[in-house]
Order: sequence, then structure tokens, then C-alpha cells
Amino acid sequence: MKFLYLIADGMGGWPLDELGGKTTLEAAHTPNMDELAASGIVGRCQTVPHGMAPGSDVANMALLGFDPARYHTGRGPIEAAAQGLQLDPDDLVWRMNLVRVTELTIDGIMRDYSSGHIATELSRPLVERLQEKLGNDTYSFVPGVQYRHLLVQKNGALTEDADLAVTPPHDITDKPIKQDMRAFSRSPVLWDLIMESRDLLADRSVNATRANSIWPWGQGRPLNLPGFRDKYGLHGAVISAVDLIKGLGFASGMDVIDVDGATGLLDTNYEGKVQAALKFLEQGDMVFVHLEGPDECGHSGIAKDKVEAISRFDERVVAPLRKALEGQDVAWLIACDHFTPIKERTHTMDPVPFILNGPGCTPSEVSAFTEATADASGLRIENGHELLDFALNRTGKK
Ligand SMILES: [Zn+2]
Repeated sequence: MKFLYLIADGMGGWPLDELGGKTTLEAAHTPNMDELAASGIVGRCQTVPHGMAPGSDVANMALLGFDPARYHTGRGPIEAAAQGLQLDPDDLVWRMNLVRVTELTIDGIMRDYSSGHIATELSRPLVERLQEKLGNDTYSFVPGVQYRHLLVQKNGALTEDADLAVTPPHDITDKPIKQDMRAFSRSPVLWDLIMESRDLLADRSVNATRANSIWPWGQGRPLNLPGFRDKYGLHGAVISAVDLIKGLGFASGMDVIDVDGATGLLDTNYEGKVQAALKFLEQGDMVFVHLEGPDECGHSGIAKDKVEAISRFDERVVAPLRKALEGQDVAWLIACDHFTPIKERTHTMDPVPFILNGPGCTPSEVSAFTEATADASGLRIENGHELLDFALNRTGKK
């Protein structure tokens, strides 16, 4: 049996007046997910443990079967794993965004956590320049993708910086940065680094982008996960545009498949991801395909874009996979990692809806795959990291 594990990041949402009281998932055209839901089972799953922040890092770690309460050290360390960085156990790894703020003072406002989804070709030279001018024995700037970069602090896990509470910048779009400026100010060395970075980014001869500051957050010690194959006895792969999913894949010894043109946005290379998934399944057992688009549209707060992102996920990922695997012994697990409601423009703790379709699943005969039908089923997985176990047991894979 082949196992398809499909994640539409941030797909869940709340009813919206502008959609006549529907959620974006309800408003989207999703005939393929609807059929898989009707002929399979649906339920809700608490991917984010209570007391933890509802981020994609925590939620996707749980979806892959690793308890975040035990293994999650921060967002930065997961992305460092994606880059294969050599780290020491006491290093502190920060995720570092290139952001736009009105000003870097307690009166400042976070304007844009992504600097207009800055292109990698523009962001990398900026981060390389920061490293050249400001990198030292303690701090290293490591360029990543688009607005997502890393800052490594040598032996930083032994300092109080490990406990600084900095808000993820996508959680405070158009909101004050006062609290975070206070947090940064508790570490004078980090504070100076941020101010010097601002001064370098202000040089219009080298930076014509919207980015005017770095934003270190999500810090922690290097990630250390058990092997996926040891845990499940399956040869698994991840396919995603985003580093954090790749990091979870590398850290657990899964195959990490890069797809050209996978952007994490509405215009991503859907066909490339589908082809890569099918190719892997010729040999492998389970493929985890992650689409970032719905989440980005949730952050942008534009309902019709999120509806479109979910519709495209159904039409351009789920549909071609169904067609290609028709008549074969296949199990499907389709979910999102967390909600990104349009009203909130950030993630929430709601338990996510999921579909499980395969042998051992008595048809639910629900009319559609929605937050509400998944809720009404009464099936609830309280610990997100047990969802995959549940799915493999139910479909007889384990
Ligand atoms: Zn998000």
C-alpha cells in the first residue's frame, strides 16, 4: 500500500460574513476532497499541544508523529536542519526574517513580515553582506530562502538570550513592536546587532527592497529527532517549498525532495510536486506533500485568494494524484497543520479537520469536507503526534 499524506498549510478557517457565513474551505471548490471524505472518515485533530504556540513548526512536527512537547526546541533549529548546518549542542539558532517596520523603537509598527515576499535573489546578497560586515565569533548570518534566514549564536543556549520571548513577525502585522523591542533590549549585544543591521539595510545603494530590519525569533538548541523509518518502518519523503518541512524531513532521516518552482505561494509548481510524489511512491511507502499557499493567503487576509489556494490544492494536487493512482492500493491522509483564519491573519489553536481514506475506513458519507462536517463526526485525535499512528493502524499499514 502507498500512503499519501497531503497538507494544505493553514487551510482551516472560521465562517466569514463576506463569504455568506461560509469558511474559505466551505467556499472553495473541492470535489476531490469531498469524495475522499465521503468514502473515508473525517475528524478533528489537536495538532498544537495546549500551552505551545500554534506555528507550522510545532504542528507539522506533530503531523509527522513527533511530540512537540518533547522534541520542539524552536523554529530556527528546524530550518537549520534543512540547511544541513553543522552546529554544536550549545549553539542557539534563531530564525531571522528580513522585515519592514515603521521604525525600530518602542513606537514602531510591524508593516511586513516578509518584505513583500522578497525574492531570494534579492535577499541572499543582503544577508551575505550582513555576515561580511557584522558576522563575528559569536554571530553568523546564514542566508536562506525569500525572507526566511538564520542567525546562529555560538554557545547562545547557555545565555539568557535562549529565553527571550520574541513574537513571530507574521503574528503582528500592522501591530506595535513595543513588547519585542523590550525583549531585544534585554540582550545588549543582540540589540546592537539589530541596530547595526538596520543601518546597513538603510544603504539604498545596496538595498532597494522593502526590507529595513532583521527580526530574530524562534530560537533554540539544535533539533534532534528519532528516525522516521525506525519509528514507523516506512520509507518516507517530504515535498515542500519551505525550509521548516525540509528540516523536519532531514532531521528524521526522510528523503527530502526538491521541486523546481516550488514557491510556497499561489503560483507554486503544483504539477512538479505531484510528479515528484508519484515518482517517489514507485519505490517509497509514504510521501508527505506540503502546500504553503493557503496559509500565506490567510496571513494576507484576502478571502478570495485563500479560497482560490484551497481550490487549486484540490484541483491541481489531489485530483491528479487520484487519477494517477486510480485502482491502486492507496491510503490518504489529508489535513492542515493549523487554522489561519482570514479575520485573525495568523494561526489559531483550533483542532484541524482531516480526511482518512483507505482500507479499514467505513464511509462517512459526509456531504463535503469542511471544518463543520469533520467536527460533527465526533472523531477527535487529542494528541496531534498520534494522528499518523492512528491512520496507519486504521488502514492496516502498521
Ligand atoms: Zn503561517
